[in-house]
Amino acid sequence: MKIEVLTVDSARTAVLEKQVTATALVDAFYQKIEAEDPAIGAYLTLCKDRAHRQAERVDTLADKGDALPPLAGVPIAIKDVLTTKGVRTTAGSKILDNFIAPYDATAVARLEAAGAIVLGKTNCDEFAMGSSNENSGFHPVKNPRDHSRVPGGSSGGSAAVIAAGTAVASLGSDTGGSIRQPGAFCGVVGLKPTYGRVSRYGLIAFASSLDHVGPFGKTVKDVALILQHMAGRDPLDSTSANLPVPNYTEQIGEPVKGLKIGVPKEYFGEGLDPEVRAAVEAGIQELAKAGCEIVSVSLPHTEYAIPTYYLIATAEASSNLARFDGVRYGVRPKEAKTLAEMYRKTRDAGFGTEVKRRIMLGTYALSAGYYDAYYLKAQRVRSLLARDFDEAFTKVDAIVTPTTPTPAFKLGEKTDDPLAMYLADIYTVTANLVGVPGITVPCGKSKEGLPIGLQILGKHFDEATVLRTAHVVEHAIAVSGNAA
Ligand code: GLN
Repeated sequence: MKIEVLTVDSARTAVLEKQVTATALVDAFYQKIEAEDPAIGAYLTLCKDRAHRQAERVDTLADKGDALPPLAGVPIAIKDVLTTKGVRTTAGSKILDNFIAPYDATAVARLEAAGAIVLGKTNCDEFAMGSSNENSGFHPVKNPRDHSRVPGGSSGGSAAVIAAGTAVASLGSDTGGSIRQPGAFCGVVGLKPTYGRVSRYGLIAFASSLDHVGPFGKTVKDVALILQHMAGRDPLDSTSANLPVPNYTEQIGEPVKGLKIGVPKEYFGEGLDPEVRAAVEAGIQELAKAGCEIVSVSLPHTEYAIPTYYLIATAEASSNLARFDGVRYGVRPKEAKTLAEMYRKTRDAGFGTEVKRRIMLGTYALSAGYYDAYYLKAQRVRSLLARDFDEAFTKVDAIVTPTTPTPAFKLGEKTDDPLAMYLADIYTVTANLVGVPGITVPCGKSKEGLPIGLQILGKHFDEATVLRTAHVVEHAIAVSGNAA
């Protein structure tokens, strides 16, 4: 069995039809990970015992002829910002190097309850802060399509395992683009659901009003299946929405004729790589051919999205990260003589440069005298951005943009220039500020063979339309032979 081509659908079918046992499948994945992952660096921790216990559960059910759960035997990987009971959970940070989580994140628990098998935890930028995975406290991840390039970030490991075929599906988190941007760089599908659609219980918080949990997969249907089994109200997360979860896969493949697709001119301006533009425009043409009506729309406050995001994200991060003080979690230097010295030494040794930069920026923006000028102002602009989307969605059903301004850049290319790095998220951060769902789907390749992603944004809680539209692009690309 060629495990690198398995999808969620084909993996579960193989297990359901007893072409392979869940245990054999897990073993095959671990063999591939051990042979190939060292060159990529996507995994930080493997949880073989846990995976084997779950595989045995599935195999026992199959032996008895019992009905199997919907994701039975599907091997998945989890970004290391989601807690996993009894398994090291680091958030990509040295400060949590030795942290064994005491409980499972709800998203992980739900997927496991549906039969999925957690292979391990994936590398990421420290506390999910970054766009290239080079801020990991451990080591960077290489893009499996070209090892001299970044996989994107911060969920770089979770995108890379899909591109490398070392997991069938994975989970990431997206605070400003960290699922969609690496999805685009690695040529895989990545979905950031609506704010409130998926529980964040067990997600190590970066910026709570912007953080989302979402899936990566090889296909649109795969991410729909994973979303299906983790979405919905969770009493452990008061921000999770109490709304019914529709059947997402049922709607994939339904005709899109008559659907109104908005193209915002602000997303096609200066800084957009010509090859990315051409590939995204070709994707839009495919939607037109499928009967969508293409409508030009305006999101006039777009230019303020990056500064707004970096004010709100850093402010919330400075507060969320206050809990890492050496008292409750992780690593504590031994030599401190006073409590204050212990805090200082823990945080100095445990946090990397980017995390420290953000804590300082956020603390400054929240400090008395500056709060109104920065944080409050940013929240006001956030309302204007939300209004832009409300207005656009009175005219269209979904919005199509590039996912990133360029294809994957070289390792080291932007590490000395944080502002250039921040611009890698220029097309993705707004969906976090506004809370609408967004997907990246591969829409072609550059001349150098690097994947290019097309982003589709939808109305709040309308993941179904986003997925249905993305499937049309995916199908057209497969037919054209230009798939990643
Ligand atoms: N790259 C953005 C940042 O550095 C987004 C990160 C994310 O979505 N987690 O903040």
